[in-house]
Amino acid sequence: MYEELSDDERELAALVRDFADEVVAPRSYEADRTHTLPLDVVARMGELGLFGLPFPEEVGGQGGDYFALCLAIEALGRVDQSIAITLEAGVSLGAMPVFRFGTEEQKRELLPDLLAGRALAAFGLTEPEAGSDAGATRTTARREVSSSGADEWVINGSKQFITNSGTEITRFVTVTAVTGESGGRKEISTIMVPHGTPGFTVEPAYDKVGWNASDTHPLTFQNARVPAGNLLGEEGRGFANFLHILDEGRIAIAALATGAAEGCLEAAIDYAKKRTVFGEVLSSRQHIQFTIARMQARVHNARLAWHHAARLRDAGMPFKVEAAIAKLTSSDAAMDNSRDATQIFGGNGFMNEYPVARHYRDSKILEIGEGTNEVQLLVISRALGLHG
Ligand SMILES: Cc1cc2nc3c(=O)[nH]c(=O)nc-3n(C[C@H](O)[C@H](O)[C@H](O)COP(=O)(O)OP(=O)(O)OC[C@H]3O[C@@H](n4cnc5c(N)ncnc54)[C@H](O)[C@@H]3O)c2cc1C
Repeated sequence: MYEELSDDERELAALVRDFADEVVAPRSYEADRTHTLPLDVVARMGELGLFGLPFPEEVGGQGGDYFALCLAIEALGRVDQSIAITLEAGVSLGAMPVFRFGTEEQKRELLPDLLAGRALAAFGLTEPEAGSDAGATRTTARREVSSSGADEWVINGSKQFITNSGTEITRFVTVTAVTGESGGRKEISTIMVPHGTPGFTVEPAYDKVGWNASDTHPLTFQNARVPAGNLLGEEGRGFANFLHILDEGRIAIAALATGAAEGCLEAAIDYAKKRTVFGEVLSSRQHIQFTIARMQARVHNARLAWHHAARLRDAGMPFKVEAAIAKLTSSDAAMDNSRDATQIFGGNGFMNEYPVARHYRDSKILEIGEGTNEVQLLVISRALGLHG
């Protein structure tokens, strides 16, 4: 499966795969059951350098590329989607916006801890009235000089479903907020709001269907004041900036989904070879063989799709449509493979102690988060000229 990778890439994939099997997997059942993100595992990922993979060494990164990050996410997604999404969101939604749009001072101050996994940042885009239609953002940020003469943003509104926003090591959340209007259109900017800012509340975690060990909260802002210098990127450019960040993130989600689809495939092969029914092993039945063969084909196609999108991204070429195709293909693969694997496990497949049951619950969100699959279809059909 790693034939076309460079030696370094193959080594990285093998290293993270071993880490996933030896360190992550033994903790997954309990973390899922108790809805707890194991921060010591996150710290170990930081020590391995995973949070710094796609960043240059000058800013504290590993000098790799986005492809390398996706290899690591795929290897983690194979055993534990909650851990994989913690890395994905920590890098592509937490650190990447700072690296890409931050000032030199912001990078110097924030990146070292984010890239070492000592701190996490979150990205708050989604609101109760603005999900797929992210331009409908209602949260506002008003520039104001305080009574003590400080130049500040005053933020009001709410965000929902924000990953990594409430952990003990979360340092700030970058939020999108309306900062003005131009030509009848909302101007949206991105502003970093540190944890502990008065008026900024991280509400209790959601009771989710899956990704239980991943940290997800609603956030509220009531006259939350942050320094004017917390603006990330140019004022009014927030919408364009986050669209780029989301396009990249879709490749990483596709890698995660490929890993999940592969985890289900491996489990199905293993179980089908051991389980005896009507006096024969399950794997001797052609229906089971064909089901598993189809699962393998899905993994293969999903992997090719994200590899292609990531290579384009790293070569500085347009990758929006390829990222959408990769996310669509791989999230469907994860959903289909987790359903097939669960079926092959029979009643055991419905028991949480078997990882396929967790993959079955976890995989659904892959078709929803970081742009639903309908939004990916919109991107693809627009590129085909099917919209006015
Ligand atoms: C566990 C989890 C973690 C998340 N993490 C984050 C995060 O870190 N940061 C963040 O900002 N957000 C996050 N999200 C939010 C996620 O990105 C949104 O839920 C997603 O984009 C969909 O938005 P929505 O929930 O408002 O659904 P809606 O936009 O209301 O969509 C509802 C349905 O309508 C469909 N639909 C919408 N528009 C169209 C259209 N034009 N044509 C056809 N169908 C359409 C959708 O595909 C969907 O099926 C997270 C969500 C979850 C569940």
